[in-house]
Amino acid sequence: MYTYQIGALWRSPPSPGGSREVCRADTTTAVFFCVCPVVSGMSALPGVEENRLVDTHAHQPTSEFLHDAGGEMMQDAADRFGTDLETWDYEEMYAEYDDCGIGRVVLLGWDAETNTGNPPVPNDYVARVRDEYPEFVIGFGSVDPLKDDCVQEAVRCVEELGLSGFQFQQIAQGFDPSADRYDYLWSTIEDLGVPVVFHGGNSTLGACAAGGRGLEIKYGNPMLIDEVAARHPELQILIAHPAFPWEKEQLAICQQKGNVYMDLSGWIPKYIDDQVLRYADTLLQDKVMFGTDYPMIDPETWLDSFERHTDLSEESRRKVLYENAEAFFGL
Ligand SMILES: [Zn+2]
Repeated sequence: MYTYQIGALWRSPPSPGGSREVCRADTTTAVFFCVCPVVSGMSALPGVEENRLVDTHAHQPTSEFLHDAGGEMMQDAADRFGTDLETWDYEEMYAEYDDCGIGRVVLLGWDAETNTGNPPVPNDYVARVRDEYPEFVIGFGSVDPLKDDCVQEAVRCVEELGLSGFQFQQIAQGFDPSADRYDYLWSTIEDLGVPVVFHGGNSTLGACAAGGRGLEIKYGNPMLIDEVAARHPELQILIAHPAFPWEKEQLAICQQKGNVYMDLSGWIPKYIDDQVLRYADTLLQDKVMFGTDYPMIDPETWLDSFERHTDLSEESRRKVLYENAEAFFGL
């Protein structure tokens, strides 16, 4: 069953028979669909048997992210489609990943407090989850670039909490990463020697709300990241998501900047632009990584579509599913 609408994706409650219909839409494509039930072909993918896959982009399936940090902009999409923001715990998340052959996940912090008024997913919380699942979770912090203490907090994340990098969501956080005032933050992270994840492309947070809740899509343009990458050549940058509607710009940057990579999160592979997939199989085969955007997209749905709807070579699949991430994150 497919319906195409604008939105984010949610799970329906478990059915009386126990099997849960999975309703998913990716957060950037404005595609909403239900898969019931998921038919899996992913066991044929390289690395699944060894649990070697790495998901480079996941959020918390808990209230800390979906309700507290997500707030009204997350609720907009749920309301739009008459769905609930169901939560579940890390045991369930771990089991779900384990079933798919994914041994590691990059779990992202979130702090867009100044721009959205919503509380952050605290960095200490991310570190605690990482400590509970040290083999499974790679913890990434988040600092709000609009806060005066963002640089100190970035240092604390790495030196005290042992977090492995940072994620920035420029649309939610409401900032232009190429602006001079953030340069000291990028220099500091460059000196700390950890990678950053920047959001790439559109976002459906605030979908259909008047004014999109004030969020501005322009901050997701990867050309703003090109400037950061040029000025900070030692800063390792992963642009999250195929950066719709700027995929071409993103591919050009990843080709030209040795320190810029990208992932395929936020999109079901069936809907990823053909040119992105061609580059992932050829020129950028060492630079493109697998990611889901969990819990908005679950790993089984993503991998099943990757298996069935893309035709990358075996070598490229290995690189995308785990080898490139192992190199990038130093695993
Ligand atoms: Zn995300």
